[in-house]
Amino acid sequence: MKYVMQSFSRLDQRYVVDKAEGHCSCPAFPREGWCKHLEAVGAYRPRKVNLTSRPSFSQALSGLVKSIRVRNIQEAVYWLGYCWGFRERINGTQFRTVRRLLIGAAEDGHSVSVMEQMAEVFQPLLAKDVQLEKVVAELVRICKVPNWWHPASGGPDYIYAGMIASREMLYHREAIQVQEALGQMERAIDAGDSAKALRWAMLVGNVESGLSLMATRLLGIATVRNHQVALRLLRNIYLRHGAKLGGDNNFITQAVWWLCGGDSPVVDELPSVSDEEATGLLDAARSMYPHVIPGWCCDGIHCAGTDVRYAGMWDRMYAVCRQFEYYQRLDPNDEWLEASFYSMDGHLLLRRP
Ligand SMILES: [Zn+2]
Repeated sequence: MKYVMQSFSRLDQRYVVDKAEGHCSCPAFPREGWCKHLEAVGAYRPRKVNLTSRPSFSQALSGLVKSIRVRNIQEAVYWLGYCWGFRERINGTQFRTVRRLLIGAAEDGHSVSVMEQMAEVFQPLLAKDVQLEKVVAELVRICKVPNWWHPASGGPDYIYAGMIASREMLYHREAIQVQEALGQMERAIDAGDSAKALRWAMLVGNVESGLSLMATRLLGIATVRNHQVALRLLRNIYLRHGAKLGGDNNFITQAVWWLCGGDSPVVDELPSVSDEEATGLLDAARSMYPHVIPGWCCDGIHCAGTDVRYAGMWDRMYAVCRQFEYYQRLDPNDEWLEASFYSMDGHLLLRRP
């Protein structure tokens, strides 16, 4: 696949980007063997990976995230248990694992009830003597609600808007004034333009203390509109735990989408998970040991790996929506049809050679 793309910084400049060959005609490419244009069309530089049954903590954590993403519960429970095994050896791993579940409730789900439940148990799950079964139960609860790639979640609309927003950011790289950007975001919300609102939200989120300024502003907007879902996302979750989320903006971007008119039929779904279910999954996970980490868990961005498909960037996520649309299921082992799944919408393409 070859594209003629407009330069991100100069209107009179264009480059030929060859995605399949991993080549670009821009000046950075010969120098570095890589460039931002290749990245912008969904190509990523693989980081050599050794797939073993003893992956590092960050690789295993990535395995947990990817398994939640594709809703493979048994695989997710396995990597959760594996991550849990680092508690005695590496400081902070319990916190990072539990925080990943809190983030995952919003990054990989649209049920605000599930997010609120996760926010409620966040502190208790950080206790030293907490039972792993309790953590497993929250993981399973997240996975029981359809993820963004399933049309029943309303998610593809959100993901598409986010992809367009992230592409607009590539072509408009000028520095922003936070207050001005917040005003732009609010106007886009008033106009119901979710891509534009998300673009300003992401720009503000990149600025120091931008997220907390934005949360306050959004809370004001949600209060005036009496928008209950946005209020729940902001008040019950973000303002409660935002400081511990390490700059994660998923609760904020979901609130922005809702305020623009986004809608998810699963917003109030709160599946129950029995103790037996959690114990059974954990037992099954223990009997899987040792288990080699699947390649699709290792994205080369958050850890060593070569499979970028489930890494969680907006363009890749939209491709996953298309994967589901095509197969009516999501299985990483199904043949990946990059040319039909990957969308170039939002890019300034001049012509296809
Ligand atoms: Zn380039």
